[in-house]
Amino acid sequence: MILYPHFDINSQGHLTIGGLDTVELAREFGTPVNILDENYIRAQMRLYIRCAKQSFGEAALPLFASKALCCAEIYRIAADEGMGIDCVSPGELYIASRTGFPSERIYFHGNNKTDRDIEQALDMGVGTFVVDNAEELQALSNASLARGMRARILLRITPGIDPHTHKAISTGGVDSKFGSAIHTGQAAQIVKAALDAPGVDLQGFHCHIGSQIFDAQPFVDAAAMMVKFMAEMISTHGIRLPELNLGGGLGVRYTKDQPELDIEGTMQTFADKVRALCTSHGIPMPRVILEPGRSLVAAAGVTLYSVGSVKEIPGFKNYVSVDGGMADNPRYALYQSPYTALIANKADLPADFCATLAGRCCESGDLLGEGMMLQRPVRGDVLAMLVTGAYQHSMASNYNKLLRPPLVMVKDGQARVVVRRETFEDLMALDVEDPVYSR
Ligand SMILES: *Cc1c(COP(=O)(O)O)cnc(C)c1O
Repeated sequence: MILYPHFDINSQGHLTIGGLDTVELAREFGTPVNILDENYIRAQMRLYIRCAKQSFGEAALPLFASKALCCAEIYRIAADEGMGIDCVSPGELYIASRTGFPSERIYFHGNNKTDRDIEQALDMGVGTFVVDNAEELQALSNASLARGMRARILLRITPGIDPHTHKAISTGGVDSKFGSAIHTGQAAQIVKAALDAPGVDLQGFHCHIGSQIFDAQPFVDAAAMMVKFMAEMISTHGIRLPELNLGGGLGVRYTKDQPELDIEGTMQTFADKVRALCTSHGIPMPRVILEPGRSLVAAAGVTLYSVGSVKEIPGFKNYVSVDGGMADNPRYALYQSPYTALIANKADLPADFCATLAGRCCESGDLLGEGMMLQRPVRGDVLAMLVTGAYQHSMASNYNKLLRPPLVMVKDGQARVVVRRETFEDLMALDVEDPVYSR
């Protein structure tokens, strides 16, 4: 086993995922390719549902934060497993709707929903809007009134918690583009506005403090702020708000020096604290919603590349270049995210070659990792990056007009393509053949 039980090494010394040889998968599907272990994803979804209901009560619902991995098949799987989903854009809503995802289990997020997004979501029958700001509140209220409806909403609140994660993935501080802050009094103001807006039905609050968080304390601190705020709003306005959405953000093990979080234990401890907080504020336990993204899908994935050049610069570094990079995975370039990589066709050999892993884009910053210990690579080897199921496929671009890799799922010894590889024709699909000026 390497990091997770579904990653292993077979008798040929090749890396396997879900029992399948990654070197054969690379040969069959080409490189670069993203492979996902479907059984792992389904097991994580079941685990979250079971633990949420066990610790927070039967009404609790985990939502898959679908920006972590967005494609039609993942929405079908989430629907099949009984998850809700969170969508952050009209494009995600469109795909979820096209797959027939039950609209009442969709929560619509975003810090700047346009009038068109709002209308699209109302027409789709989106279950709940997580309203970010006062302008959006008015726009939503007007649009739903015009349809003779009342939109079910939560208000996004920033509890003022710094979860000590990378600043680009920290979202719960007062100084944030997301939500309304409790500390500044803006949260209380928007509650008043929501209660006065005839086109919305305020059901509760939402917070999401950030991502890749390993410590339970920031979640507990955020919940404490939220429960206190809920109690204040109940006593100020004499209303009962039944729902509390505590967001996502649980950390995932990418390298061997990171821990693997015990989801069941963490959730139980968290639920006990939330229950105690409610008791001490004298309010009933709300229906709790959770929004895991990364922790459902990240560890399911491996990305396979082909090694091209191996450039050893005496006195400096060893650059190993692969046939992908920041276009299919910008996470190292954006946040210096650590990963585990290995040479899949010699995974049983010692990892004694220190490499700077470079992509093929014309950018010096196009790196996938630095100081990575690999088996000594040569051109033609298969390089595997582990734990790439989240924020990889969904963050990929066509920069340098590179083709986005396919998404292949494996399950019970079989493999299937769920998103095909892009083609050169796809790259020109949006170009107008003979553009003319009309005025
Ligand atoms: C991104 C996001 C999540 C999921 O975060 P993870 O770290 O992937 O669990 C949940 N809720 C909101 C509002 C988000 O923006």
